Amino acid sequence: MSYRPSQSRYESMEYRRCGRSGLLLPVVSLGLWHNFGDVDDLENGRRILHLAFDSGITHFDLANNYGPPPGSAEQNFGRILQQDFHGYRDQLIISSKAGYTMWPGPYGDWGSRKYLVASLDQSLQRMGLDYVDIFYHHRPDPNTPLEETMMALDHIVRQGKALYVGISNYPAEEAAKAIQILRQLGTPCLIHQPKYSMFERWVEGGLLHLLEREGVGCIPFSPLAQGLLTDKYLKGIPEDSRAARPTGFLKAEQVTPEKIAKLQQLNEMATKRGQTLAQMALAWVLRDKRITSVLIGASRPEQLTDSLQCFRNTWFSEEELAQIEVILR
Ligand code: NDP
Repeated sequence: MSYRPSQSRYESMEYRRCGRSGLLLPVVSLGLWHNFGDVDDLENGRRILHLAFDSGITHFDLANNYGPPPGSAEQNFGRILQQDFHGYRDQLIISSKAGYTMWPGPYGDWGSRKYLVASLDQSLQRMGLDYVDIFYHHRPDPNTPLEETMMALDHIVRQGKALYVGISNYPAEEAAKAIQILRQLGTPCLIHQPKYSMFERWVEGGLLHLLEREGVGCIPFSPLAQGLLTDKYLKGIPEDSRAARPTGFLKAEQVTPEKIAKLQQLNEMATKRGQTLAQMALAWVLRDKRITSVLIGASRPEQLTDSLQCFRNTWFSEEELAQIEVILR
């Protein structure tokens, strides 16, 4: 039977304004870095996307290289879009990126205008789209003038191939320059996508302040530290986890006894708050109103159901925040 989205999907989600733009994003967005490649089960991916949209998730994040193999996540997403989401394009915010190695030779990586323009054309073709809503430069390129990369983003918007642009993994100082250049070009930077979780705090050292001042949104990736900040690793590494899979980016060496000890303490706290550890970890990121949305992943629908409850309680007492600092120290 063909997919019919839930009629009540917008009632169960909260939406936050993305910086000083006209765009609202769901507080929980779904990323397709893992679990949507050709190595994964397409029907499982389809169920996850249905549940996401039924729950009010309107934003789906991709990149040219997601898979494996690179490109396959966009292709599979495009297939599901065409089959199941026909007629809903205007209710979706779809993003893609370029900045990491995508094809061989000097034009398939980093930040040249040559690479960015060609890569977005390929992404659009794979997804069967005329435009993406947000196009990101995926990481800073130390060897290409920032002006060239930002002019390429501006060009792409003027071509009508992206509605908004963003940057990802840019340290605060480079982000400030990029935001400034984009503003001068007349294509404001919509959003920054940094890594941020209880285990990865670098954005607190100036980036969040900058984004707030400049009116740029912030959508942290891997807010669950790739699944570490859930109850799944409390007793070691389960077979069906990202850390156990050969194609997963989380390595077994990263699941250390010290981390597990911290996770156990955090898990106890979460239980006291009436949340799962995943919910508490996401709520902790969302407690800061400078965060537009948390960009999560899910390998099955049940995980999404669990994580989606995070924004029901994003309030933390001073004591709880202090206790978290002690645990993480
Ligand atoms: P998360 O930190 O949310 O990790 C997701 C993984 O955690 C899942 O695949 C699953 O792993 C596990 N998990 C999720 N929810 C639960 C739950 N409730 N209970 C138990 N386990 C759970 O995010 P990701 O690392 O997947 O990144 C999210 C998105 O961010 C990406 O898809 C991508 O769009 C973006 N991203 C951007 C980057 C950039 O450079 N801009 C880099 C990396 C990601 P398992 O397989 O073990 O079940």
